Amino acid sequence: MTDKKERKRRYHKETRLIHGDFHSPHWDYSDHIVPPISASAAYRLESVERGARGFQAFANPEFNRHVLPPIYIYDRLDEPSRSMLEDNLAAAEEGECAVAFSTGMAAITASLGVLAKSGDTILAHHTLYGCTYSLMKNWLPRFGITVKMVDMKDVEAVEAMMTDEVVAVYFETPTNPVLELVDIGAVRAAVNRANAARNPKKRRIFIVVDNTFATPFSQRPITLGADVAVQSITKNVGGFGTDMGGVWVGPQLLEPDVLLFRKDFGAPLAPKAAWPALVYGLPTLALRSRRQNETALKVARFLEGHPAVERSLYPGLPSHPQHVLARKQMLDQDGAFAPGIMIYFVLKGSPEEARERGRRLMNHLAQNALTLTLAVSLGQVRTLIEHPSSMTHAPLPLEAQVEAGIEPGGIRISIGLEAAEDIMGDLDDALAIL
Ligand SMILES: *Cc1c(COP(=O)(O)O)cnc(C)c1O
Repeated sequence: MTDKKERKRRYHKETRLIHGDFHSPHWDYSDHIVPPISASAAYRLESVERGARGFQAFANPEFNRHVLPPIYIYDRLDEPSRSMLEDNLAAAEEGECAVAFSTGMAAITASLGVLAKSGDTILAHHTLYGCTYSLMKNWLPRFGITVKMVDMKDVEAVEAMMTDEVVAVYFETPTNPVLELVDIGAVRAAVNRANAARNPKKRRIFIVVDNTFATPFSQRPITLGADVAVQSITKNVGGFGTDMGGVWVGPQLLEPDVLLFRKDFGAPLAPKAAWPALVYGLPTLALRSRRQNETALKVARFLEGHPAVERSLYPGLPSHPQHVLARKQMLDQDGAFAPGIMIYFVLKGSPEEARERGRRLMNHLAQNALTLTLAVSLGQVRTLIEHPSSMTHAPLPLEAQVEAGIEPGGIRISIGLEAAEDIMGDLDDALAIL
């Protein structure tokens, strides 16, 4: 066992992404190179005793499902295709264990659902993915959970808010869509101080980081100080845009509760959706990301130098206000700088002009560009572009948009696998019509 562990450590992490653990308690690999899609809602039990043992073992910390062969009962509890992906995602995120959900939102809901109960407080960064914001604003308060939003770039302000009611600190880094970074190590230090000063009867504060934009290729939040990393597999981990999924990665201590939450709230990742991420997504993550990172830097530089562009934000550009922090925490698994696949840029002009230019740019690209696809989502083989002001946030009047931090001329790009020159050529053509 130790021998095998030692041997595994000798391989590059990138190689581990492709091969996973080579051995799994969830499946006998003797005949397969490609892991199978298991498709069984329920499992045959040889005896009632085996069924009883299965129920006793499920989500029981004394029966480690990552070591002992699990007794499968019903898909919603546990099942082999999903479990194989979970083991590989835990390794990719450098966490103790992983639990996979039907969507990123289901994983995020579970990450907070197991930590907070009525009367507790969650501290969250002031900009969040839209549905996470809605979860915190519209739903958690209905369960008696208070959410306080703060700019987590100001770690002192966060620390000042860590009262005894706080059970979790939640943020994305980089954030959507403006690519602000939060210093994971600095938040860790502040949470350590608050935990040390805490009444020993109070549970310690946990840090939850949404790692969707960076992916485990560019950033491992747990190694940097987070307790839990959540991720939308729908995005670049899945990588091809064919299926939805989400994952929670964290300490074994929390795993039983996360499994029970998934069983009872009912959003496990379907085995048919786990399989593409296991077979295509994760094994090609490093290859795809390396190319996308290189292209993103070229496109961000091109936009930065374009006369129609007010500013181009990419953590890899020295002009990014947190470039130094990016160089510290956005590293690939070999330690090389990997500032990600997302670019945000702002068109010139008054709010009205910038919004209109954004609208025209999108429609021109949608009709004329091969390499840029007008669409939401991110992390696919195709480059995707969107203009929040005239799309997701279109119902809001301009003043309300500006107040909510949505810039009228702000545009988000998710870089795909096309040749960088072609993406820049299409952007150049489209920007010329403004
Ligand atoms: C897409 C996304 C989510 C939600 O993931 P789904 O799989 O769509 O539920 C959460 N956070 C971020 C940053 C995202 O981009």
